[in-house]
Amino acid sequence: MPEPLIFELSRPGRVGCNLPACDVPQKELSALIPARHLRTAPPGLPEVSELDIVRHYTRLSQKNFSVDTNFYPLGSCTMKYNPKVNEKVVCGFQFARLHPYQPEETVQGVLQVMYEMQEMLAEISGMDAVTVQPAAGAHGELTGLMLVKAYLKSKGQEKRTTVLIPDSAHGTNPASCTLCGFKTKQIKSSANGCVDVKDLEEHLDETTAAVMITNPNTLGIFEENIVEICDRIHKHGGQVYMDGANLNAIVGITKPGMFGIDVMHFNLHKTFSTPHGGGGPGSGPVGVRKHLVEFLPVPVIRKEGHQYKLDYNLPKTIGKVRAFYGHTAILLRAYAYIRTLGGEGLKKVAENAVLNANYLLALLKDHYDLHYKKQCMHEFVLSGSRQKKKNDVRTLDIAKRLLDYGFHPPTVYFPLIVHEAIMIEPTETESKQTMEEFAGALIKIAKEIEENPELVRTAPHTMPIKRADEVRAAKEPILRWMGKKTI
Ligand SMILES: *Cc1c(COP(=O)(O)O)cnc(C)c1O
Repeated sequence: MPEPLIFELSRPGRVGCNLPACDVPQKELSALIPARHLRTAPPGLPEVSELDIVRHYTRLSQKNFSVDTNFYPLGSCTMKYNPKVNEKVVCGFQFARLHPYQPEETVQGVLQVMYEMQEMLAEISGMDAVTVQPAAGAHGELTGLMLVKAYLKSKGQEKRTTVLIPDSAHGTNPASCTLCGFKTKQIKSSANGCVDVKDLEEHLDETTAAVMITNPNTLGIFEENIVEICDRIHKHGGQVYMDGANLNAIVGITKPGMFGIDVMHFNLHKTFSTPHGGGGPGSGPVGVRKHLVEFLPVPVIRKEGHQYKLDYNLPKTIGKVRAFYGHTAILLRAYAYIRTLGGEGLKKVAENAVLNANYLLALLKDHYDLHYKKQCMHEFVLSGSRQKKKNDVRTLDIAKRLLDYGFHPPTVYFPLIVHEAIMIEPTETESKQTMEEFAGALIKIAKEIEENPELVRTAPHTMPIKRADEVRAAKEPILRWMGKKTI
């Protein structure tokens, strides 16, 4: 049974609130607002009680999969548990009521948090300085590339206009380059899933501005030649950008600064346990080596004696990349997380993320194809090729069938270099039992594909929405009630 829409619950005269009578005389209102902007008929809002509306939205929320209700092994996204203590910190009276226009001396606490975040992320990554302003990983990419561009310009190297990107990269990498005015060239991966160093070498020339490397990469494999790659780029006068989305696998174990990286971003909503949302709220701080520091976005948060200050005085800055100071409430949550765990705790995060992924891989590798047969880091990429070839069941069908078993599907069809890719990331916060149940479901589905492929092809069977037309939903979204005919 489809849920009634809130407009269908409407009953004439039913109300959920009592508003005081309007105390502005009608005559004054009419004088203030031109007649053409005044309503001539009521707005047609649903007439419902408070209880109607509470039940309606609570029911809707229960239809969602979320980290708080279901295992969510969405590869590359690091959907770890968001500890509730972080929410407590950020909702506290001291922080929730701050206003970004308050004078510095009245917001010393939050400035201290932002300053210490800059310092802690620099320590964690081995970079020399960090800005916490960018609003997401992709925004961090754009910011980092703008820094590279400003640096190259200051050296009279404007002819360097190309960025090299491995074929396993996340789509945001080439998109950020294009937004920043760079051209991109694709570098091949070798048979072991790492960057093909020979192919990289062949693409390097005097137009190379930078290479963008994800490490560990999106196949869940550590780039074993990372130091050599950085050396080669630097010899050719280019910069190395590291996409730090997969930091969860190495946090506390090693530091990108030690590989020779010049600039990188962090995804606080991945590694540091803050919530993800539909395109936000996230946070994508950027770390840089010394030679890029003078170009950082303003304001930089500094400490002078016991005072924290917003420093706008950077003559070569790329300017602001975000209103005010970035997503402060996300920084507060990440700060609480890092402070709760400490250095040793963060190291355990990486160790357990890698252990969990390898355990899950061991449970699954006989049932689905695995193209890159290496020990994985925090995630791994299976392939549904076997199931597609033999039984004409696609990876998308497998993902949909998982919903019937109560699991959010893994990332599918990414990275692009694996056919029928199934990209699984359990994170360190899942228990052995949960992973075994998930593996059990995937193994059962593999069996169903052999015995009754139609059951999987037509999944999900238990969800209120079966297969949404995702393209149409994005291109022609229906965002308001237009009467029954739109349903
Ligand atoms: C998530 C991700 C990004 C983009 O980060 P957002 O915070 O979602 O903008 C970039 N690269 C990789 C490898 C990612 O997993």
